[in-house]
Amino acid sequence: MGSESERLMELAEKWCARNYEPLPVCISKGEGVYVWDPEGRKYMDMLSAYSAMSHGHRHPKIVKALIEQAGRSTLTSRAFHNDMLGPFLEKLCALTRFEKALPMNTGAEAVETALKAMRKWAYEVKGVPDGRARIIAAANNFHGRTIAAISMSTSDTTKKSFGPLLPGIDIVPFGDAAALEAAITEDTAGVLLEPIQGEGGVVVPPDDYLARVREICDKRSVLLCLDEIQTGLGRTGKMFCFEHYGIRPDIVTLGKALGGGVLPVSAVCANENVMRVFTHGTHGSTFGGNPLAAAVAIAAMDALRDEKMVENSSIMGEFFMSSLRELKLPGVSLVRGKGLLVGVVLEKPVAHDKSLELLDAGLLAKDARPDIIRFAPPLIITKDQIEEALGIIVKVFK
Ligand SMILES: *Cc1c(COP(=O)(O)O)cnc(C)c1O
Repeated sequence: MGSESERLMELAEKWCARNYEPLPVCISKGEGVYVWDPEGRKYMDMLSAYSAMSHGHRHPKIVKALIEQAGRSTLTSRAFHNDMLGPFLEKLCALTRFEKALPMNTGAEAVETALKAMRKWAYEVKGVPDGRARIIAAANNFHGRTIAAISMSTSDTTKKSFGPLLPGIDIVPFGDAAALEAAITEDTAGVLLEPIQGEGGVVVPPDDYLARVREICDKRSVLLCLDEIQTGLGRTGKMFCFEHYGIRPDIVTLGKALGGGVLPVSAVCANENVMRVFTHGTHGSTFGGNPLAAAVAIAAMDALRDEKMVENSSIMGEFFMSSLRELKLPGVSLVRGKGLLVGVVLEKPVAHDKSLELLDAGLLAKDARPDIIRFAPPLIITKDQIEEALGIIVKVFK
C-alpha cells in the first residue's frame, strides 16, 4: 500500500472531474505493445487507446518527426499558410482517394464538420428548404461527446441532462437497410454510420448492409458519411473498413490513429462536390492542420505503409480471432470483429470484472459493453505477442 501508483491515481481522482472510471493502473512509460507503471510492472496494451495507438507506443519514426518538427515550427493558425499542411493533405487524399480534406483535431470535431457539410450540401446543392435538413444515424452508435454527437446517441448515460439536444436526427436500427430506406424523406441530407460499431461492442453488420445502403443513398440523393475514426487506417485489416464491403462513402471521418499515438489529429475527406460547400469563414479550427500535427500524421501514414501494418492487422487479426474461437473459453458465447478490432461477447455481464482480472494478469483491455470485452492491440503486434496475450486470456478464463 501507499505505492507511487496509488498516490498518483488518488491525486488524479481528487482533482479530475469524475467523467471516467479508469481501471486501477497508472501508466508511466510505453514502448511498442507494452506499457509500464511507476513500480516497473509491465503490461500488454490490448486496447491501444481505443485505436489511437495503432502504431504502438512511441513509434520511433513518429516521435522523430514530432521532435524534428517541434524544433522548427509548431503552430501557425490558418490565418497564414504553413509548409506542412499541403504535403499532409496531399498524402491523406492519395490514401483515401478523395479530392479534398479538411483538417481538425479530435474525432468529435471531424464528426461535427461532416454534419455541417451534409446540412450545407442539403440546402445549397440538394435544395432542401432552409432549416429542415435531417440526418439518419444508427442505434447503438458512437460519434463522440459534443452536443451534436450525443444528440445522435441512443445511450441514456450519454445524453441524459444535456438537452435540449439537436433536432433533425432520425435513428434506425444498425444493419437493417430496409429500415434505413424507410426513414429517408426529401429533407434527408445524409446518413452517418460506423462501418463496424466499435464503442457499441464491435458490432459487425450483415455482409451486404453497406452495399445496400450505398445503393439506397444514390437512388434517393442522400450523402453517405462513414465514421472511420476507430475502424480506419488499418484497424480492421484493410486501410479503410469500407473496403471490406466494396463501396466508397461520399464523406469519411478519420481521427485516432491519424495522430500516430502522439497528438490529436482528425480530418474529413470528401470530393469537391461536397467539400465546395465550405467557403471562407464557414468553418475552422485554430489548431486544425497545424504543422506539428501535419508532420506527425505524415509520419503515421508513412509508417502504416512502410511497415505493412494493414497486412499485419489482417493476418494477426485472423490468427487472434480463430485462436480465441478454437479455445472455446468458458463463459464466452461469441468472438466477432475484423482485423485487430475484436469483440469477445460473454454469456454474463461480467466484462468489467474480467478486465480487472486481465489487468492483474498483465494485460490491458476494457469492457465496451457490460457483456463485451474489446481487444484492439497495436497493429505492430507480432505472432509471439498474440500468443503471449492468448496465454494470459486462457489463464484468466479457465
Ligand atoms: C473515438 C470516436 C469518436 C470521437 O473521437 P474523439 O477524438 O474522442 O473526439 C468518434 N467516432 C468514432 C467512431 C470513435 O470511435
